[in-house]
Parts: sequence; structure tokens; C-alpha cells
Amino acid sequence: MTRARVASCAVFLMAAFAMFGGCDIFGLADTEPATIEVYPSELSLAPGDTAWLDYIVRDGRGKEVKGVSVRWQVPSNEVVSVSSNGRVIGYTPGMTRITATRDDIAGGASVAVGTIRFDNVRDLAIAAYRDKYGLKVVEPAIAPDSTMANAVSGLPINRPTTPTHFVSTVYGQTYVYVLEMWPDGRIQSSRFVPAVRPEGAVRLAVVVLDYPYTNFAELLDTHWRRAVDSMKADYRHWAESVGWSEPLLSLDVVTVVADSGEVSPLVRSSLKAYLAKLGIEYDVPAVINLDPHSRMGGLYVENNGDPWIYIGCFCPRWQDGVELELTPNDVQDIAYALFHHELGHAMGWWHSWGGGPPGTRLITNPAFFGWTDLTGDGWPEILSPTPYGAPRRFP
Ligand SMILES: [Zn+2]
Repeated sequence: MTRARVASCAVFLMAAFAMFGGCDIFGLADTEPATIEVYPSELSLAPGDTAWLDYIVRDGRGKEVKGVSVRWQVPSNEVVSVSSNGRVIGYTPGMTRITATRDDIAGGASVAVGTIRFDNVRDLAIAAYRDKYGLKVVEPAIAPDSTMANAVSGLPINRPTTPTHFVSTVYGQTYVYVLEMWPDGRIQSSRFVPAVRPEGAVRLAVVVLDYPYTNFAELLDTHWRRAVDSMKADYRHWAESVGWSEPLLSLDVVTVVADSGEVSPLVRSSLKAYLAKLGIEYDVPAVINLDPHSRMGGLYVENNGDPWIYIGCFCPRWQDGVELELTPNDVQDIAYALFHHELGHAMGWWHSWGGGPPGTRLITNPAFFGWTDLTGDGWPEILSPTPYGAPRRFP
């Protein structure tokens, strides 16, 4: 079976442009209400939660008509109730629709009341691991999360402030198991084999493509060496912070600077052939393409367990085609995107898994990697003879 996973990452800034037009110079303005938009159009609540709905009334030309009141209605008060001013209270799990009406026009919002709350999410995760995968997990790692909130690399972790769902993972000997648990009761489960396990020595081979106007070769033994050391230090500092004498993961990094013509940056086989020619062995190969004319973010691609990392020249201060020398900060950003983001994908980390603990630069919560001792037996779960409290029997 061929399976490909691609992570396309928001490591460069994107601007969205919206154009607003609308000269109303023909005819008279139409102020008769024609449509009602309710927002948010979808609402997820837990029992006992309160939320507010709002609305906009527009005329036939799409122009807002102010000062029009509506009547809020819900088919029955079983799932939620709605007050005359749009306040919604969740009661029991289920789905319903709330409408706002004015004469013969109406708008609406769908509302889901779910069962997931902080106090029962642990039991739901335990049941889901058991039912879906036959795993006995007594203390799953769980964190509230907000979709894609932490998918920014090279920058301080953007920790979710309003969790929209819960995420849990278990790191087995072969698979990483992931549960995403939503307030409407859905549980999405997945398992996959990461390219490398997040323990022991991982060998990373980095080929940097230098261009005539870039200066990486000069920075190799200074900025780059320091940046790599600081990435390793992030793992070490975290390990020390939880009392381990050594980090569970150590990186063996070989960096080679190549002329831009020697490797086709976006062709995986070209990178692999180049490394083979040099006799360099590795677990994960990476190419850093410093071409400012071809700005791309970071990319992690995996085919049949065969990983490949691409890092583009995404330094935000670089404008397309502007040939600037790399600063120490640029080099640090590149290293962060490579080691803590894309390599994280190779080891099973994925987006929207919650940020690392405050004060660390790790992209996700180490508990998700089995790096914490959840059961209190003195072992981090990934090394424990009884991971997550059960005998080691993960497939
Ligand atoms: Zn990513």
C-alpha cells in the first residue's frame, strides 16, 4: 500500500486581499428586509454552556438593514433553549436548529450539544482506545486544543486560548495513535507509523543549497553550528526540567553545503543520490533551499515510510528576489523549522496537538510523545515496561 503524508506548513506569511465594491448610483435604495444571516452559523456547546447568537438583516441588494428585530425559535427545548435576545443554553446532547424569523423571512444556525467536558474526556479517551484499537490505556495524555492554532513554525508557539476540542495520543512501539474528541461527541481516531521514533539517536542529513549571493558556507561553522546546538539544547533543557538526566532523543546532524546546481531542490531522489554519492547514512534527509526567488515554506513528505524534508527560503524579511545575506536570526528560524517542526512530523508530531509547555520551544506537549511519566512508575511512557499502565503489548 502506498501512503503519502504531506505537511504543508504555514511558515511564511500570507496576505489576503479583499476587494469591496458597491457604488449604488442607479435607482433607489431597497430597504425591504430580504434575508437574515445568523452567526455563528454553527454552534457547539456542552450541557450547561451559554452562548449568544447574533444576526444581520439585508435587503434584496445585499445591503444591511438596521433596526430590524427578529424572533428566535427552537423546535423544542430539549437540546437547547433560546431567549428573545438570542441567548442559547445547552441542555442535553443532540443536534438542533435555531431560527431567527421576521415576517416570512428566516435565517438559522445549527447547534450541537456534546458530551465532552474536561471531567469526562479521560474516560472517553480510555474507552475509545479500547474499542478502536484494543489498547488498555489507564492514563492517556490529553490536552485541550484549538485547530491549527499552533501550526506556525519558526515563531513562538501560538498556544490556543479557546480550546475547540481535545486531543489525545499514545505512542506505541510501532504506531502513534491519535484521538481528536469534539464537543458534538465525534471522536476521530487514527494511527500511523512515524518515520522515526522520538527516542535514542536520530540521524539527520542536511544538504544546504548555496547560491552565488547567499552566504551559508560562511555561516556553517558559526551561526548554523550554534543554531543546531540550541535545538539540541531545547530537548536537553526540557529533559532536565522533568528530572531526566538525558534527553530521550539525541540528534546526530551532518550538514553539507552544496552548490545550487548539484541537487534539484524539489526532487527527493536527487537529494538521496547526492547523499549516497557522499556515503552519508541517515534516518531523515533534508534539503534547505536558500533561493530567495523561489520562496516556499517547510514541507514534510513521506512515502512508504521514506521521509523527506524540504525547507525553503521563507525568512519573512526577504522579499521575492531580494538578495540579502542571512542573519543569525534567519539561520535560527531555519533551524527551528527544520528540527522542531518538520522533523517533528517525521517523528509523529502533527498539527493542532497543543503547544509545548510554557517556557519551552518544543512544538507540542511532550506527553504526546510518551516523554512524560503519566503513571508515576518512574518511567517516561515511551521507555516504560508498562506504558500507560498496561503491560507492553502495543503492536
Ligand atoms: Zn507542519
